[in-house]
Amino acid sequence: MLGFSRTPAIAAPENSSAIENGLAHLRSNPLQHRALIMQCPNNPEMLVYRLFKNILCILHIDLGVKNSPSDCNIIIPMDGSSEIPPSSAIQFVLLDRDGVINRKAPEGVYVHQWHDFEPMAGVETAIAALNHAKKRVLVITNQRGVALGLYTQAEVETLHHQLQRHLADHGAHIDAFYVCPHDNNQCNCRKPKTGLLEQAFQDNPDASKTNTLLIGDSLSDIQAANTFGIPSILISNQSSHKSEEAVTLATAVSPSLSDAVKTFLS
Ligand SMILES: [Mg+2]
Ligand SMILES: [Zn+2]
Repeated sequence: MLGFSRTPAIAAPENSSAIENGLAHLRSNPLQHRALIMQCPNNPEMLVYRLFKNILCILHIDLGVKNSPSDCNIIIPMDGSSEIPPSSAIQFVLLDRDGVINRKAPEGVYVHQWHDFEPMAGVETAIAALNHAKKRVLVITNQRGVALGLYTQAEVETLHHQLQRHLADHGAHIDAFYVCPHDNNQCNCRKPKTGLLEQAFQDNPDASKTNTLLIGDSLSDIQAANTFGIPSILISNQSSHKSEEAVTLATAVSPSLSDAVKTFLS
């Protein structure tokens, strides 16, 4: 079943052939693509189509030109193995920290003390549910503030001990933390690089690309998951609007860790 909605702008007559062309392609291959990007060769604007659980959403329409079906090419049919696997198949859940577990500080500000650490609503229950479902919960976090001299790696560890104590009060725990303390372009572990994921896999020989899921709130999290070849859920809500690129690349999108885990475990 495919459904979609149109905004008045995209329903303009000059856009209809481009839209219909994309829809026709998706209808004929409804399960083959998680996203299609149609580009009109005469201009840089694009249509991004995305299937969410068989509901077709048009994420981005920015056309203002004449189109005919022959003007438009489908240029990026992404691979089809793109639903979140059933929870029974997932044994490892990699969580980004800032913006997923705790409220992210404004750009340029780094959370490094417990008293600035504001857990997001429902995260304790969500992590406890993953623990009870026997999923290994691993945190993978970029902490560039260490490289900038704003706090030390020891302080990050102290903060993570405090987080564990807080979670323990709610019957929850994190199985391991993986931290990149480096600055941009200094290492192989700062996401979107995949070094933290590789470390997690080295420590967990049972982890595989088919039994691991990543949940993050940044494009760099989703890019790391895609490069590494594992499914991802992007945390995106009205207070943290995410780039179309992140939404398009993610396997699924959820407004919070709490919602993501409820859906995933249901
Ligand atoms: Mg984050
Ligand atoms: Zn690093």
